[in-house]
Amino acid sequence: MKKSHSQSSDLSKFGRLAEYNRRRRFDVTPEPAGKMRRTKKKELEFVIQKHRATSLHYDFRLEHDGVMLSWAVPKGPSLDPANRRFAMQTEDHPIEYNRFEGVIPEGEYGGGTVMIWDRGTWEPEVEDVDRALAKGDLKFTLHGQKLRGSWVLVRMRERQWLLIKHRDKAASTIDITATKPRSAVSRRTLAAIARSAGASPRQLAQAKGADASSTSPSG
Ligand code: MN
Repeated sequence: MKKSHSQSSDLSKFGRLAEYNRRRRFDVTPEPAGKMRRTKKKELEFVIQKHRATSLHYDFRLEHDGVMLSWAVPKGPSLDPANRRFAMQTEDHPIEYNRFEGVIPEGEYGGGTVMIWDRGTWEPEVEDVDRALAKGDLKFTLHGQKLRGSWVLVRMRERQWLLIKHRDKAASTIDITATKPRSAVSRRTLAAIARSAGASPRQLAQAKGADASSTSPSG
């Protein structure tokens, strides 16, 4: 879905965020425009956004080199090392996106309700993140409100990866997406976010449906 808009004129200056900006109309969507951020801080952010778009998925994002590397995880993360979760790499997002919780209007790219499901900091367990990404094997530790301990992203082919929990004391057979369905920042459900952010009746119904499905035991 290509949309023509003013931001298309020169995207080269946006570097790794050019694709993010190309897909969005910032006069319509409440999402932040993509700007590279250079930071000297040592702590790297991570965020997981629960997103009821065409279907429910969890957007897993790790800060690296001034952007958020992003993967869409249809079933969401699992604390059980036996559950390898498919993760489709998507376009890099701006770091400002980590604060976005709201509704993307109907007809826009990713239209639907977005919840900040978990957030915190992460640490690579490797010396060189770029090299690990190129190899397709990135081991890291999460310090989130819901997700903790050691994890790995393993590439199968091209943009298709697996997100897997390592065996450690944070590993568990608890279904975390079912037991902790709410926002990490506002404690709201998807439906509550949809309602307060002016979702369409259809988007509100979909948000309610996603709330119901993500609280039922492994559906
Ligand atoms: Mn998404």
